[in-house]
Amino acid sequence: MKAVIIGAGMGGMSAAIALKQIGFDVEVYEQVTENKPVGAAISVWSNGVKCLNHLGLEKETAALGGIVDTMSYVDGHTGDTMCRFSMQPLIDEVGQRPYPIARAELQLMLMNAYGFDDINFGMKMVSVEDGPDAATVHFADGTSASGDIVIGADGAKSLTREYVLGGPVTRRYAGYVNFNGLVGTDPAIGPSTEWTTYVGDGKRVSVMPVAGDRFYFFFDVPMPEGQPFERGTAREVLAKEFDGWADGVQTLIEKLDPATTNRVEILDLDPFDTWVKGRVAVLGDAAHNTTPDIGQGGCSAMEDAVALQFAFRDHPDDVHAALADYAATRTERAGDLVLRARKRCDVTHAKDPEKTEQWYAELREEDGTNIIRGIVGNIVGGPVT
Ligand code: FAD
Repeated sequence: MKAVIIGAGMGGMSAAIALKQIGFDVEVYEQVTENKPVGAAISVWSNGVKCLNHLGLEKETAALGGIVDTMSYVDGHTGDTMCRFSMQPLIDEVGQRPYPIARAELQLMLMNAYGFDDINFGMKMVSVEDGPDAATVHFADGTSASGDIVIGADGAKSLTREYVLGGPVTRRYAGYVNFNGLVGTDPAIGPSTEWTTYVGDGKRVSVMPVAGDRFYFFFDVPMPEGQPFERGTAREVLAKEFDGWADGVQTLIEKLDPATTNRVEILDLDPFDTWVKGRVAVLGDAAHNTTPDIGQGGCSAMEDAVALQFAFRDHPDDVHAALADYAATRTERAGDLVLRARKRCDVTHAKDPEKTEQWYAELREEDGTNIIRGIVGNIVGGPVT
């Protein structure tokens, strides 16, 4: 069996490793010319870590992951702790520690595990087509590649999705912009083994540790879509947005490097369950584009990769049965995570300010039980138990 995979993001690379593990001949094609992921880091929740472990990357993942022992919410204006609790009950319940990981390092780990030199960089797919005996992709340079299957792991603006669905889709602006980057840990911002989140006015400022004494930080700012922004001006923009906020937030704004701070408008897509057309299938953000509010987009892509492997393990000689099985096991779970994230997004970012104020009041009463229950609810249901 031969698989042609489009996209060397975390979904495409996880799928490449997963299929190689069961003896597939795999070719990966990526439009960019170098490994330069957009975004600073991600939280790989326990379900994602379990998938990486399944792909043989347990030690490598743990080496890159930050240690999150506690989680806290802080009143963004006063700096008062609203709640602080241990992550241990979550780890005990799901059997795996989550790991925030710098994106470029996660990406490189996956690329090396597959074989960095075997990735075909600089290859932009311009069309894909199904056929009776093979599926074929065509590239901008005029060349093409065929396989028993084509996996479109080509991200949120997927061309493969357009082919599978028979037309383009419109993504939905979620109402806020996310600024993110990496910065050295600093107790003035938050403890080095804590995921600290400052909240207020539907805004959010968060830091969580990644390996190498660094924090992954992000700021969520509700604003209309399409506001002008000049790269390099994040400090001025954030200083204005968070004027008067607690000292920890001011320290973070002073310490961040505006040149490497990313600004992303957050969009998502209504779940859909047509993931396969003949020998062509979508995977990762191409199949389920979510807001990052529960940190599950990338984890879900990793789950897709393992589910794809299991489907071909169970139907080794039948492409159509395997892809049908893959879609059947994934669409509901992935769609559920998209909708859970959307719901969380609305509360966090004050779509209805009363509900957000109610959430802040709940945070002041929280001992961790409800938050951990919610996170566990997101984690369970993946292919690796
Ligand atoms: P991508 O990472 O987008 O990769 C797609 C690849 O396909 C790209 O390399 C692209 O260049 C390539 N490609 C596209 N079109 C073509 C083409 N025509 N030809 C060839 N190559 C092509 N997820 C989590 O699990 N936890 C988090 O904490 C988290 N935080 C996030 C924070 C933010 C601000 C955002 C925006 C997302 C976050 N996510 C998180 C989601 C996560 O980043 C995505 O779900 C994940 O990157 C999806 O991986 P992917 O491989 O499907 O797509």
